[in-house]
Amino acid sequence: MPEYILPVTRLIECFRRLPGVGSKSAARMAFGVLEMPEEEAEEFCRAIRSAKHDVRRCSVCCDLSDSEKCGICSDPGRDGSVICVVEDSRAVTALERAHEYNGTYHVLGGVISPMNGITPDRLNVKELVARLNGDVKEVIIATNPNIEGETTAVYLSKLIRPLGVKVTRLAYGVPVGADLEFADSETLARALEGRREF
Ligand code: ZN
Repeated sequence: MPEYILPVTRLIECFRRLPGVGSKSAARMAFGVLEMPEEEAEEFCRAIRSAKHDVRRCSVCCDLSDSEKCGICSDPGRDGSVICVVEDSRAVTALERAHEYNGTYHVLGGVISPMNGITPDRLNVKELVARLNGDVKEVIIATNPNIEGETTAVYLSKLIRPLGVKVTRLAYGVPVGADLEFADSETLARALEGRREF
């Protein structure tokens, strides 16, 4: 990296800590900040500070929330007898965007990954089990369709099924608008597996 004066270097280093940001992008961002009016830069600082201070975990579903209970958990219109288990908040947002689901969620905060030292006790699993108090009829496991997501799904189903709760897995299929001939065989196999009656 070329030599910049210290305050600039420090700012670049800060941006570099963000996921997916290399040194070139970090430098671009830092110069972007330098070109901002002072008030805009202040707003930036305030947004970061507020996100760190005001965002916490919902006491029920462990999703990000700005109050003790998140909007979904405190909505009486949502069906509390169904819990959809996801890896992170981004999955909640994606599923909400589909406007198909009216149950509640549970955010695991990751997936089981022995290689990265992530064991079930590092995830919000005991919080999930604590919710299975008799009112919950179905748990939909919506972890991502990769090895770690599958491992987590199998682990959870073995844990939950003995408690007398129905466990289902999200069906993965061919993306809408895609041509069957271009779908890979794994995706097609999943689509066949997850088929349903008309
Ligand atoms: Zn919640």
